[in-house]
Amino acid sequence: MTLLKELEDRGATGLYIDGEWRESSDGSGFPVLDPSTGDPVTEVSSGSVDDALAAVAAAHEAGPAFVAMTPRERSEILRRAFEIMIDRSDAIAELIVTEMGKALPEAKAEATYAAEFFRWFSGEAVRNIGYINTAPGGDKRIIAIHQPIGVSLLITPWNFPAAMATRKIGPAIAAGCTMVLKPASDTPLTALAVAEILKEAGLPKGVLNVMPSRRSGEVVDAMLTDERVRNLSFTGSTEVGRVLLEKAAKRVIRCSMELGGNAPFVVFDDADVDDAVSGAMVAKMRNGGQSCIAANRIYVQDSVADEFIEKLSEAMAATKVGPGMEEGTTLGPVINERAVLDMVGFVEETTGNGAQVRIGGRRPERAGFFFEPTLISEVRSNDPILSTEIFGPIAPVVRFETDDEAIELANDTIYGLAAYVYSSDLARAMGAAEAIEAGMVGVNRGVMSDPAAPFGGMKQSGQGREGSHEGMMEFLETKYIAADW
Ligand code: NAD
Repeated sequence: MTLLKELEDRGATGLYIDGEWRESSDGSGFPVLDPSTGDPVTEVSSGSVDDALAAVAAAHEAGPAFVAMTPRERSEILRRAFEIMIDRSDAIAELIVTEMGKALPEAKAEATYAAEFFRWFSGEAVRNIGYINTAPGGDKRIIAIHQPIGVSLLITPWNFPAAMATRKIGPAIAAGCTMVLKPASDTPLTALAVAEILKEAGLPKGVLNVMPSRRSGEVVDAMLTDERVRNLSFTGSTEVGRVLLEKAAKRVIRCSMELGGNAPFVVFDDADVDDAVSGAMVAKMRNGGQSCIAANRIYVQDSVADEFIEKLSEAMAATKVGPGMEEGTTLGPVINERAVLDMVGFVEETTGNGAQVRIGGRRPERAGFFFEPTLISEVRSNDPILSTEIFGPIAPVVRFETDDEAIELANDTIYGLAAYVYSSDLARAMGAAEAIEAGMVGVNRGVMSDPAAPFGGMKQSGQGREGSHEGMMEFLETKYIAADW
């Protein structure tokens, strides 16, 4: 039996409130589509404002007992959740493919990566470390402790439906916060499966509530205006992040924002070109280019540009496009019809500006939301594609001449999430890594995500960090106790 069928049989395609599955209060629902066919696979309840407030009430009520639970107990729940998730990782991977479309090996990698956040934060839960020191005057003591912020609203995107959820739930549990998770409407199923895992792992009822909804704006507004909600952890586009920051400002809600990216991928003339091509394949093509840290602009030094373009075209041509569940598929569909149309538009506009399509460039003739792996060369450094998050399998390549020019181009964006630098001279690569305005830089590496590392952006890519010790701090307040004895 598939995990989807199991969820349906248990009523777990509804809203998860106070440890129970419920239908939406007004009986509404919405279909979840398989991107490889465009057909609905199931229907999920669509939470209303009343449901959202019931979820907030459940989280609020569960708060005191959860804070009183020992860190060790919270740690052990996370550890059990990690083990259950690893045991079921094949089934979870299939569910991810069903609603999100990525190729099965990538979905398996995501399921494991997602579970690792539970393992990592299981360790962090028992390391909520404060400090005590002597005031400079020598006569007083300064004590700092960290306490859970309280009811947290977690909002996640569709591109990594498991990992984006566990990257928030893990630290919230570790810190002792209760929460309401609103998953993306394109991919609500994986979040519901994660709720079932945590239930089985012994998470008390009301600590995690999951609220799929087609009416995102309405339900999130209602939760943000509710006095009981103290914290917002959002992952999604910069556009929506800006709107939510404004709304959160009205009640000065603490915010952690993981927003859009526009990663430069810089290849210097002394780089190992084969290595740079392998790195670019991962940085650009992982998740079909639908990653916030995807290489969005590839800058190559003129003297190695022809060789790099040739080799990257060959590597991209070897990609096998198909449904994520099909044997051998390395590139699945993009998320929906709008994303396909965006890709068509990028190719038309960029070639209209004089760039050349080296491979791909078209929507294949088949059902579902597919687009060919596409390399576009001779892109002008001011082409609009370079200032937009492509979020699909298109690699625009721009030539540059000097190192200073590369850094200037890399920083010419409102975003600052990730960047990649390839050079065989470590001093040159590290100099560039320090000069590029990004929260994360891959040096001779095309992949950088790690639950133990601080993930997050500068500029309009966000504020706050997820993963690492810093991830738990997003769910904690520092309290200073002035003591004299
Ligand atoms: P999105 O901003 O459209 O949606 C994100 C979430 O916000 C979804 O749950 C959605 O339902 C909800 N939402 C949308 N409009 C809302 C509104 N008006 N009020 C309240 N909630 C609303 O983003 P997406 O298309 O789901 O995901 C892609 C984006 O996410 C890309 O920009 C990508 O770079 C970004 N992303 C960032 C990171 C990171 O860690 N920085 C990770 C993954 C994705």
